[in-house]
Amino acid sequence: MPYHWPKDTDFALLELDVLDRDCPFCGRLMHICDHRYRHFHSLEGPVELVCKLNHCPDRACQGHAKTKSPELEMTIALPRMAIGWDVFCWIGHRRFSRHWSITQIQSELSDQYHIKISDDSISSYIQSYQAMLAARQEDPPTLRQQYQSVDEVVLCIDGLQPEKGHETLYVVRELTQKRVWFAEPLISATAQEVRRLIAKAKQWVESMDKKVGLWLSDRQDAFVTGIAVEFPGVPHRYCENHFLRDVAKPVLEVDSHAKVTMRKKVRGLRKIEQAVLKQQGVEALKDTTAADADPPAGVVVPAIASPPRTDSAEAVVLDYCAAVRGIVNDDQGGPLQPPGLRMAEALSEVRESIQRNLDEEKGGSQRSNLAVWPVASTEVSTPCGVNTRQSEATSKRSRKSRRPLNPKAAVVRPARRGSRN
Ligand SMILES: [Zn+2]
Repeated sequence: MPYHWPKDTDFALLELDVLDRDCPFCGRLMHICDHRYRHFHSLEGPVELVCKLNHCPDRACQGHAKTKSPELEMTIALPRMAIGWDVFCWIGHRRFSRHWSITQIQSELSDQYHIKISDDSISSYIQSYQAMLAARQEDPPTLRQQYQSVDEVVLCIDGLQPEKGHETLYVVRELTQKRVWFAEPLISATAQEVRRLIAKAKQWVESMDKKVGLWLSDRQDAFVTGIAVEFPGVPHRYCENHFLRDVAKPVLEVDSHAKVTMRKKVRGLRKIEQAVLKQQGVEALKDTTAADADPPAGVVVPAIASPPRTDSAEAVVLDYCAAVRGIVNDDQGGPLQPPGLRMAEALSEVRESIQRNLDEEKGGSQRSNLAVWPVASTEVSTPCGVNTRQSEATSKRSRKSRRPLNPKAAVVRPARRGSRN
């Protein structure tokens, strides 16, 4: 369906001429015989592209019946598309590099660039982008160029399941140049099918005239046999990630058990937070009543809405709660950083930090309201609307402290999932 442009669209005008105007058949100077008008979106706004079409003025020449379009037209926008290359690449990049959803791409185009296109159009642009990218990746001259300085390649094959229930996608990658060579979905990964992919890799290697130094895989039977037949004498090693994961299995089981035990022990955050909020609410109410002698009847001042008193003990306690909640809900980590171990380390840091605060309080005036915090006993996993504020805990730290503990930092530990292989 042609794109519907509103009547009052303000197009930027772009005119294109044929650059080489010699008739390809008789060499005579060609004449302009027609104009093609195209409209498309660019990131800078809507464009009206006027293409001047040329043909040979000599009716007897073959060049008379054929019109020539401006050479640069294709470099500005693809035929039949309502978007220019810039928007096309923008969409492809957001989809494949940033993993945005189509809805997200659609809203961002509309909000940021006032480009309104349907989700089906975006989906079809994405397909075209993918096809072009794949063609480019597998383009033999490009590949040869990239591998010019490489003598030996390291190949790797693995099966990935993009989504549950989908057929497995078998991917062959080359590791020295970090390049995906090709990928194929196999409904039944028989030894024969897998071997076909390995044979394809062999063709690529041969066409580039390279040696294979090493194959890596998770050593599934089909990989082991296929590689042995197609690449005799080439070493075939366990990929480090799979190897570690398999070796670490018993460790991770123990670690997971330790994590559960720690979670059971660290409880009652919610109750502490509620007590703090209640206290803050009472104080906020006092302030409000003082400022405004006649508050509207029936209005309950929400505790959370009271201005954060960043220097108060309450704020520090809330920060600690947020930090601890972040720590006990953090499941990140792989075989080399077991999540339970990370949790134990982080909790010890929190304990040390609290201890340092208490040590500094000793001898000074004890805050009477500290006695208010109830003994912890409730669930910890309840989500809570408390914002993490910069904690005063950090500034009250003792000077001999090993390294700074910022409760906020503990909440946003870098997320890193286990394996990508
Ligand atoms: Zn001609």
